[in-house]
Amino acid sequence: PLVLTDFLDRAVRLYGEKPAIIDEEGTRYTYHEINKRVNQLSHGLASLGVEKGDRVAYLAPNTLEMYEGFYGIFQVGGIMVSLNTRLKPDDYLYILNHSGSKILFVDHELISLIEPIIDQLKTVEQIIIHGASEAKGDFIAYPKWLVSQPDTAFPRADLDENDTATLLYTSGTTGKPKGVMLTHRNNYLHAMSSMHHIRVSDKDTLMHILPMFHVNGWGSPFYYTANGSTQVMQRYMDSASILNKVKKYGVTVMHMAPTVLNGIIDKFMETKPVIEQDVRIVLAGAAPPQAFIKQVEEEIGWEFYQVYGMTESSPLTLASYMSSEDGDLTGDDYYYMKAKAGYEMIGTKVRVVNDMHQDVANDGKEVGEVIVKGNGVMKGYWKNEEETNRTIVDGWLHTGDMGTIDERGRINIVDRKKDIIISGGENISSIEVEGVFYEHPAVQEVAIIATPHEKWGETPHAIVVLRKGHIVTEQELIDFSREKLAHFKCPKAITFLDELPKTASGKILKVQLRELV
Ligand code: ATP
Ligand code: MG
Repeated sequence: PLVLTDFLDRAVRLYGEKPAIIDEEGTRYTYHEINKRVNQLSHGLASLGVEKGDRVAYLAPNTLEMYEGFYGIFQVGGIMVSLNTRLKPDDYLYILNHSGSKILFVDHELISLIEPIIDQLKTVEQIIIHGASEAKGDFIAYPKWLVSQPDTAFPRADLDENDTATLLYTSGTTGKPKGVMLTHRNNYLHAMSSMHHIRVSDKDTLMHILPMFHVNGWGSPFYYTANGSTQVMQRYMDSASILNKVKKYGVTVMHMAPTVLNGIIDKFMETKPVIEQDVRIVLAGAAPPQAFIKQVEEEIGWEFYQVYGMTESSPLTLASYMSSEDGDLTGDDYYYMKAKAGYEMIGTKVRVVNDMHQDVANDGKEVGEVIVKGNGVMKGYWKNEEETNRTIVDGWLHTGDMGTIDERGRINIVDRKKDIIISGGENISSIEVEGVFYEHPAVQEVAIIATPHEKWGETPHAIVVLRKGHIVTEQELIDFSREKLAHFKCPKAITFLDELPKTASGKILKVQLRELV
């Protein structure tokens, strides 16, 4: 069977003495050393009664402890429930009880998020604190507990490839998070496809910027481990610290959200650090604006890849960089192409269909829903058969994202179904309008949302964060958009804010903005 423990096993056999992890303090651990810690964790979990199929929850940023959790749990046959660090205590209560988690690991900086709900946890038997030097109350302090366990090989649980490896709760961008069940096979084959397209090797050093509790960050430890790459742990999404580490540790690959990339671009332009190694790939999903892609490639000189996916598909299904046929494009045509989500990745089949489930014309214009079939598609939502049946129909995962497809098979994500603005019967893509605003030098961040309108039904409304030191009026920005877009697509009004609410993975929370306007 395809089980995820294979990846660490391979790294230990082939790259045992290579640095596997560089933690927040700069300490290096080889694959051999990591393997010993992983064995200790498995022994520790077994001694607490964790068995095959039990859920083990993690509330942690990107740390060594989080990384070793993956393999430590899988050796025992457990299921990892990874919790988003930006939720509220009530959300944790919901997810921990809903998932029936037995053990909870919490980073020492995040204990206060859990304390208010401890009494209401129905299934959690033990809480273990990462980075705590001493046990407090009923909690176990991870560092001492871990090293007191034997580091001998752990007798592996008997896993089938269709056993669930994780319950990943979705970002909650559009509502309550849903528990997505991904199997060992889902993650294994997703890793194979990603490592091929990203051309991962033992010469790579990946910096984990995307939180590992989020699906894109969650999947990458598998393919970078299998290939013996070095992985740098990054606790905070702080641009200055990220750039320092890129230089210091020779980072070659980074996955991140566009909002984080935005901050890194600014910091880079401000400090102009000299980076000697080749940062071969900066990879982002979640609708990166064309203006960022151009800046990254032209001004910083890093190659940019766009990817598309969702928790329910492990996540990656489309990538913008696959076709060498696109190599003949130059200038804005080239960046326009890179700003499109891209081509099917190996192991997935992607279609764009209308309401009658027929394929739309492949003219790059007709808009339909993007549906996905393939290796990464989840087993279902945990304890929510109704929603599973609504989402996966005849094996096709309905993404809720609207897109177009062109004659080369390139798919462009137009918008989420829920975010499309319908004005006077015309569909307006919030992503397209945001892309134009990002071309304006004064705009730091923007979100376009619908506001009700008597005559048109809805009209676009812009919420803008200005760059420090820039002054621009509402009318100037509206006029700027009217030069570049059909007038019906242009916002009628603008709200200026100091910052935008975001999910932990860096997505702008339009749900909250809608309440505000
Ligand atoms: P929830 O389902 O809880 O509302 P979410 O959909 O944001 O949250 P994720 O699974 O993290 O949770 O995100 C997947 C979604 O992100 C996709 O369905 C799509 O809307 C958006 N997305 C991802 N990559 C891209 C991309 N390259 N271009 C445009 N949108 C993207
Ligand atoms: Mg979603």
